[in-house]
Amino acid sequence: MFDYHIHPSYSIDAEGTVEEFCRAALVVGLKEIAFTTHLDADRVGDDCYVNVKGKRVDIASSVWFEDYESRIRTTGDRYEEQGLRVLLGVEVDCFPGVQGALPERFFSTDFDFIIGSVHLIDHIAISANGRAEEVFRKYSMEELGERYFSILIDSIDLEIFDVLAHIDLYRRYGEVFYGESIHDLWKPHLKELSSKMLSKRVGFEINTSSLRRGMQQPMPEERIMRALRDEGISTVTVGSDAHTPFDVGKGINVALDMVKQAGFDGPSTYRKRKSTIIPWSDYEKQN
Ligand SMILES: [Zn+2]
Ligand SMILES: [Zn+2]
Repeated sequence: MFDYHIHPSYSIDAEGTVEEFCRAALVVGLKEIAFTTHLDADRVGDDCYVNVKGKRVDIASSVWFEDYESRIRTTGDRYEEQGLRVLLGVEVDCFPGVQGALPERFFSTDFDFIIGSVHLIDHIAISANGRAEEVFRKYSMEELGERYFSILIDSIDLEIFDVLAHIDLYRRYGEVFYGESIHDLWKPHLKELSSKMLSKRVGFEINTSSLRRGMQQPMPEERIMRALRDEGISTVTVGSDAHTPFDVGKGINVALDMVKQAGFDGPSTYRKRKSTIIPWSDYEKQN
């Protein structure tokens, strides 16, 4: 079993050390995990920080990249002997102008895996309760879709990440605000999104955090998985988006079952930002 979306306490909204997450991953039987600390470079917001040894450090500081990389590599070496592979990753927040705002060290760090996600519209997190509504009040549902998907699609062109995170994140608070029809928000954007993903070899993740928030489906929901498969997308990773060791691996088996039912050949793994599909027969032998 793999979990490719984990936030250790470097993320300012997470708890638990790299060591504690690795231990928890072994206990639940994971074979591979990717640490994906948030990299929010939008200076208009106020989240451009990470925690390093109990201190708030600006994401542009080389101190945190060095500490993060060496911590994950040294801990990973120890856990590899115990059958757990640990990847160095990051979750990049995409917004217009992101490429120029990312610190130099981002481009020179030897990441195994990079997630790209859209949390921010007009510098406001649509993933945050109480804040998302500020954005929703400004836009009709169609306008929200235009904005969200144009940021997502334009970001793919930058070639700064490997998979798109939680494609239908707008659903988390948007469903209550706009109603059921938000489940179709992606439809007018599918062709452009998938052709861009194919041309830039970008995959997508199935994010299981929604299952822990009482939602019925992971993100994206099954209909979107199937639509992307029909458009020829074959690279899928799975992640819990755990912000505490307790949540590591949660919902992964349920999500993988959906990926299988949706007709994908297997989940993908990454090494040095190169993906490999693990066929179901091999995956099931290993796990
Ligand atoms: Zn995210
Ligand atoms: Zn995340």
